[in-house]
Amino acid sequence: MQKYRILIVGAGIAGAAAGAFLGRSGHRVTVVERSAGVRSSGSPVDIRGEALGVVRGLGLEAAVRAHDTGARTIAFIGRDGRAFTTIEMRMDAADIEIPRTDLAAVLTTAARDVAEVRYDDTFDTLSADAAGVDVRFASGAQERFDLVIGADGQNSATRRALWGDGGARAGVRRAPRLAIATAPLPLRIDDPSRIEMYNEPGRSLTVHPGGGRPGAAFIFRTDVAPVGREAQIALLRDVYGGSGWRAAEFLAAVDDAPDLYFDRVRRVTADSWSRGRVVLLGDAASSLTILGEGSSMALLGAARLDAALRGAPDLATALATYEARHRPAVERAQSGAALGAAFLVPAGAVALGIRNLLARLVRRI
Ligand SMILES: Cc1cc2nc3c(=O)[nH]c(=O)nc-3n(C[C@H](O)[C@H](O)[C@H](O)COP(=O)(O)OP(=O)(O)OC[C@H]3O[C@@H](n4cnc5c(N)ncnc54)[C@H](O)[C@@H]3O)c2cc1C
Repeated sequence: MQKYRILIVGAGIAGAAAGAFLGRSGHRVTVVERSAGVRSSGSPVDIRGEALGVVRGLGLEAAVRAHDTGARTIAFIGRDGRAFTTIEMRMDAADIEIPRTDLAAVLTTAARDVAEVRYDDTFDTLSADAAGVDVRFASGAQERFDLVIGADGQNSATRRALWGDGGARAGVRRAPRLAIATAPLPLRIDDPSRIEMYNEPGRSLTVHPGGGRPGAAFIFRTDVAPVGREAQIALLRDVYGGSGWRAAEFLAAVDDAPDLYFDRVRRVTADSWSRGRVVLLGDAASSLTILGEGSSMALLGAARLDAALRGAPDLATALATYEARHRPAVERAQSGAALGAAFLVPAGAVALGIRNLLARLVRRI
């Protein structure tokens, strides 16, 4: 097996997992992360299906389970403020739900045993030739690598550098346009296993216990994507100003939130995931924000890229094999996006009535 000098851009789920896999396979790996360190908060993400095998394969199942949020049910709240039905949220009892940054932290700790992880830095320029990629870092350092892996998330600078702006396509094909905002909530949660969700046509309000770090999520239908905190809060006030349940309380929490996340649900895609010696992984390659099992796909992609590099006689064959094996899984996971959106945020009163009926029929607790 050929051993490569590899740069991974981004120490999120995909980058950290790839660092752990590739370092263990004997490659010389550097991971560069633009943040100063692993951040302390994060939306909960799921690890399910084959992705559970990936964390087991890394020997990290216990470490990851230790951060499980413990949330197991979703209570659907009616206009009277009471739950009218509660359903099991995990498809399988073995599934894990974990704050995104906790997962990245566990994976990064594993990566650091076998790879160099540099924080507070990124690449400035990538110039590739047939034999390698010259990388100039923001810190001023200059190094040459055999392979560069862009694992720098939905807004990937690696993708923009090599693919141009054509790599990201806005909007969700055959699905309604959604935006999501999340913010921490300064309150005590009585039942850490219970998520609560309230809907009105075109908008939803969710409280997630977050394993002791509760958070509110506003998911709603919109065609606009305001930039900047003030404009985003103004849009939330506009959409949720007249809403029932605890909308007023959560809007007030948003004003004080140190950490407001806001984004449109966007589809990111690239016609090919590699160009010469640069390859995309995780959300940088393909993403649908909250729809599409992005965290499980990031883990599986890292494992498949490592397996392809181990099994192929040369880099070009390995990168083609990785994409051929992983792209169908990603497309399968994203194919349920329209259904997911319809369940999360029914657009009108009739659709909401049908969703509520279905929620009542689904496995009751
Ligand atoms: C609010 C929200 C809720 C979600 N809920 C779910 C869910 O329930 N289930 C699920 O499966 N998925 C969910 N997702 C999606 C999931 O979080 C992503 O698919 C997953 O995190 C992708 O991992 P990644 O490593 O590719 O990208 P990221 O986790 O985004 O990591 C990218 C990393 O690259 C770093 N970086 C960025 N640019 C640079 C640069 N230029 N140089 C160096 N470093 C850089 C970033 O700081 C970050 O650490 C959710 C996402 C959001 C936003």
